[in-house]
Amino acid sequence: MLMTPGPTAVPESVRDAMSRELINPDVDPRFRETYDRLTERLATVYGVDSGGDADRDVVALGGEGILGLEAAVASLVEPGTEVLCLSNGLYGEGFADFVESYGGEATLVAAEHDEPLPLDALEARLAAADADFDLVTMVHCETPTGTLNDVGSALDRIEDADRELLTVVDAVSSLGGVEVPTDRIDVCLGASQKCFSAPPGLATAAVSDRAWAAMEARDPHSLYANFLPFRDVSDGFPYTHLTTEVVALDAALGLLLDEGLDAVRERHETAAARCRERGAELGLEPVPDPERSSPTVTAFEVPGRAEALQERLREEHDVILATGLGEDAGDVLRIGHMGHNARVERVDETMDALADVL
Ligand SMILES: *Cc1c(COP(=O)(O)O)cnc(C)c1O
Repeated sequence: MLMTPGPTAVPESVRDAMSRELINPDVDPRFRETYDRLTERLATVYGVDSGGDADRDVVALGGEGILGLEAAVASLVEPGTEVLCLSNGLYGEGFADFVESYGGEATLVAAEHDEPLPLDALEARLAAADADFDLVTMVHCETPTGTLNDVGSALDRIEDADRELLTVVDAVSSLGGVEVPTDRIDVCLGASQKCFSAPPGLATAAVSDRAWAAMEARDPHSLYANFLPFRDVSDGFPYTHLTTEVVALDAALGLLLDEGLDAVRERHETAAARCRERGAELGLEPVPDPERSSPTVTAFEVPGRAEALQERLREEHDVILATGLGEDAGDVLRIGHMGHNARVERVDETMDALADVL
């Protein structure tokens, strides 16, 4: 039983869709129909399909989630671009590495990994006399600690600073399980293998008109890590698309929308609450404060024991969990209750196994 915070378990009907005969993505018109339906469904999940005045387009690139992070930076950063990277975790810090590798100037405004986003420091940095930022990056759910960040308040501070700042938000492990304020974000990133419960293979984004204009104004550094060739695909895709992944994500989003976004979000809240309740009974503490814990993932503190517990869960119960990442690898055990896995029965089965090995 795959209960990691991505990739998540893929429902049987999605796996069945993947086993159908392959369609040629460049030649067979059925592929375009599938891609168009996928992007329509994705726009609904992103909440950017509101009538004729929608000023955001969604795209699905062939490549796993990190491609979206790199493409956002590669499409918006050129030598000298000033980027404020707001962070309280590994993915937030990683944006600064991407910015530097594309020649931009990254200013990291960071808090400790179990703390909230440093919003006062963000405000001060944006108000500083020498502030000349073009872009702000941040992460909605820091998956390594299971922290859901208050992106709305960060966007308030950015809007109050009244500079023409573009925003890039990594919502890879929240989108589809938690409400994301996509209508205020210029580039909002998602991926197939987290709350959508499709296999890894597609990076998704909702891109604002402002962000498209900024991308058009830059020299592209990359064909592959680039959203622009996907803006208008009426003349075809820039490269052979990942047919099976597109079919899978389309089917997975169909399931999600049949259930309804509100029902899916509620299911995530219920599963997360159950996971933490069962954890508390076992004396396990989540890493962040309860009010910052994400409905999609729980990271329990298990100092020095994460790898041994992971191994015994796998060998004795066939339950696959993740350890921490980076420095905390051995001290944190992570349960992904996201997407298809956000179900009380699946959480209970996982926690029964964890109780046994503990
Ligand atoms: C999973 C994840 C990604 C994408 O990483 P993958 O290599 O595609 O798994 C990006 N950001 C966050 C916050 C994630 O949890």
